[in-house]
Amino acid sequence: MDSTHLSTRLSAVAEFVPLGARLADIGSDHAYLPANLLRNHKITYAVVGEVAKGPLDNAAHELRKHDLLATSSVRLADGLAAVKNTDAIDTITIAGMGGILISDILAAGTQRGQSFETLILQPNTDESVVRRWLNTHNYVITDEEIVQEDNHFYEIILAKPGNQILSEIDIAFGPYLRIKKTSVFVAKWQKERDRIMLIFKNLESAGKTNTENYKNWQAWYNQINEVIS
Ligand code: SAM
Repeated sequence: MDSTHLSTRLSAVAEFVPLGARLADIGSDHAYLPANLLRNHKITYAVVGEVAKGPLDNAAHELRKHDLLATSSVRLADGLAAVKNTDAIDTITIAGMGGILISDILAAGTQRGQSFETLILQPNTDESVVRRWLNTHNYVITDEEIVQEDNHFYEIILAKPGNQILSEIDIAFGPYLRIKKTSVFVAKWQKERDRIMLIFKNLESAGKTNTENYKNWQAWYNQINEVIS
């Protein structure tokens, strides 16, 4: 992967970026996403935020290589602290991190009084934590996508300011993903169902079928079945 050829995962993130956006990519590593969007004239300006020096240097190298430093700023900062009011950033991308870290970054931004027109979030894990955070912090999920790369499934969540009340099923599976029910979505949850089957086997051979834990797994298994059937 590079800024010429994005991975399937980052391409799906890029698809959600509004044309003409002023973007901040938080946790940007090689800056492949903002560099690709600038090179394709999809965005007009990018802040590239990184908490670690090595990835920041890689990002600066990528932007310099493609002569993009006039329309971008590379900043060493924790989360949304990379974004200044004067940047007039309207779109945030946070991709390739755990959902808890993404929620923590958003929470710290909210505490600083930051809010943005468009959030595009791609948690690698704990997607439900991100949806719950959005649901309780004045953001509405307006679309979602799910893609597969090898054996991994990646959810991309698009959110805008507003209010909504998500059900627990929406939070667990995604309000748009569970309605779209693509083959990738079904494959993701079939894989989770297979994992739970192994847990059942272990609990059964340990004689622990009459336990709260077993019942909870059973309820979760049934819930998955209902959603993907
Ligand atoms: N966003 C890119 C992608 O999706 O391919 C890079 C993902 S990389 C796995 C995660 C990056 O986030 C790392 O470079 C890490 O240094 C950075 N990161 C982690 N916590 C961060 C924070 N609080 N603020 C800014 N960057 C952070």
